[in-house]
This record gives sequence, C-alpha cells and structure tokens, in this order.
Amino acid sequence: MATLTPLAHSNCVTVKIGSALLVDQESGHINQNWLADLGQDIAALKQAGKDVIIVSSGAIALGRQRLGFKKSKLTLAEKQASAAAGQSVLTRAYEDVLAPFGIVTAQALLTLNDTEDRRRWINARETLTTLISVGAIPIINENDTVATDEIRYGDNDRLAARVAQMVGADCLVLLSDVDGLYDKNPTLHEDATHIPQISSLTPEIMKMGGDANQTIGVGSGGMATKLQAAKIATEAGCAVAITKGNETRPLTALMEGKLNASWFIAQTSSLAARKQWIAGSLKPQGAIIIDAGAANALANGKSLLAAGVTDIRGQFEKGDAVEIHGPAGTCLGRGLCGYSAAEAIKIKGLKSGDIEATLGYDGGTTLIHRDNMVLET
Ligand code: GLU
Repeated sequence: MATLTPLAHSNCVTVKIGSALLVDQESGHINQNWLADLGQDIAALKQAGKDVIIVSSGAIALGRQRLGFKKSKLTLAEKQASAAAGQSVLTRAYEDVLAPFGIVTAQALLTLNDTEDRRRWINARETLTTLISVGAIPIINENDTVATDEIRYGDNDRLAARVAQMVGADCLVLLSDVDGLYDKNPTLHEDATHIPQISSLTPEIMKMGGDANQTIGVGSGGMATKLQAAKIATEAGCAVAITKGNETRPLTALMEGKLNASWFIAQTSSLAARKQWIAGSLKPQGAIIIDAGAANALANGKSLLAAGVTDIRGQFEKGDAVEIHGPAGTCLGRGLCGYSAAEAIKIKGLKSGDIEATLGYDGGTTLIHRDNMVLET
C-alpha cells in the first residue's frame, strides 16, 4: 500500500508550476485541459484544509506568442516585453479554473529584493499571509518586466523556495517535467537510479545537479536550481518534492504516495528555523521598552502591541531586529519590528483606534508579531 507523504500532513503548501507544463511548446497557448485538471487538484487541497500558494512560470512563453516573437533566442528587452504581455493571460488562466470552486486568486509579482531585503520581506510577507488568511490563493511570479539581470532570480525554483520560507509553508512541490533526482542523467544513462528520499543535501547530492543532470527538463533552472531550492526550503523547515506534473491529478497522486517523486526531508520546523534566524543572525539596531502588562502578555505567547510600549531606543527601520526590554531594564528577547523607530515613538502607548489618526495611515497595532519574536529562556 502506498504511504502518505509529507504533503498529506502539511498545513501550508507552495506549488511551483513550470512553463513546460502550463504552456504548449508548439502553439504557445495554455495547456487548458491540464490546467483544468490541476485546478481540481488544488481545490481538493483547499477542501482538505490546506493553505495553498502557487508560483507559476509561463509569462514569457505565453507573451512571446502574443507579441509574435518567432526566433528561438530573445533579447532581454523582448523577454521583458513578453513577460508583460503574458502575465495577464497567466493570472487569468488560474482565475478561470479556480473561480468555479469559489476560490479567489490574487496576483503577486516579486523581485529578488522582496525576498532578500528585510524591510521589503516583512511587507511582502504581510501581504501574502493576509491573502492566505482569508482563503485566497496568491499566484506568484517573478516581476520579469522590471527585474534586470543583477536583481533577478531568473528561475522560479528558488523564488518558490523563498516564498515557501517567507510564508512558513511546510511543503513545497516543484511540479516539473522530471520525476525527481537521479544519480546521473537518465536521458543519457540507462542505468541511472532514481532517488526517492533525500534526508540531507550533502555536497555529493548537490553535485548531482551539476554536470550529470544539468540539462534535464526544459525549464530555466534544470536540476541545479531545484536542488538549490530544496536546500533553501528544507533548511527553513519545509519538505520538498520534485515530481512530474503531467499526470492526472498530480497533487492528489503525490499526496497519496502514488506518484514517483524525490522527497527532501525538512531539517527543522519552519517556525524554529525563523526563530533561529532572528535569534542568531541579526544584529539588533535598537530596543523597545515595554511595561509589566506587555511583558506578561509576551510570556504568554502574545504579540507585542503598541499599547504596552513605554519607550524606544536607537534608530531602526521597519523589519530591523530590535531587543525587547522589560520595565526593570532586563532584555526579554528580540524580534523584527513592524514599524521604524520614528513611527514607533509616535505610537507608543496608543490603542489601535488612535494609530491611524497619529500616523496618517493604519499600519496595525502590532509592533512585533509573535512569529517574529524570540524570548530569552
Ligand atoms: N518567470 C519566468 C516566466 O514566467 C519563468 C522562470 C522559470 O522558468 O523558472 O516566464
């Protein structure tokens, strides 16, 4: 009997869909039947109570057809123009197959900076988690139209891994045209062995994304970027599957262990990975002083609200790490602040209703969300 895979146990799934699956390579049009089938599969995940995020490629492949670019190699400007023309078709296609299930989709285009710069990261995270919290499915792609080479991912495998990390997903599925990792390129070597489970991404495994498997598949990334994505995600506490998407109901089959795939085991829980990152790698840029009531609330697992803040020290920007000090001056922990020091000074001690009147906009009453906070033990 097939065993249930990490997808069956997950609460939040990021599904990455490659161009080769979505777009017919000959005609440059959407593979409509395949997408309708996938829509059912995604609706089934939602019905099973899972949050879903889609990272989809295909904008350039769809747009080049619309703009009539026939040659095989496009210039950067032609690719960017194609992405602009293709992205609306791409988003609409997902909307069309998911709306009949009552699922709202929302387009989000990200650049490398949105996932690497903490200020932008915290903003993008808030947007995505807000969409997810109301049951919508974000349809994400790289903002190819404005990204230049230096600030580009160039492949959606790593973008999907960063998105999974950002929203705290516990499962990332890379749907592609290969059913996983082989010890050597299976198109060249008959004796290539499929590897169904990888518990650690050793240098030996990472090397399998190099020469042996580099040219596998037609996506931008090949196996090398898939392994890099697996490394980012598993270290962030997210299990990863690489599997072939052109099967009937691939996600259901994968969930039930009936689809050939390579599974990469999560190295930790996603929350633990985030907290380790906050506790270990970030230098605090200031401190927030809080009253006894707020200290008590934090000890009980609550977020830090403006009402409990008595003072602010240092110069920090939104998204920076800060220390949290109790009324007696003891350091209680640290976290990523949702406001800059200048804003935090203005709203300290305020209740939610007064924040908008003071700042001119409503940034919410939470200074540090509990998921962005690590307390001293
Ligand atoms: N963002 C690109 C597109 O939508 C695809 C990148 C990739 O293939 O990974 O066309």
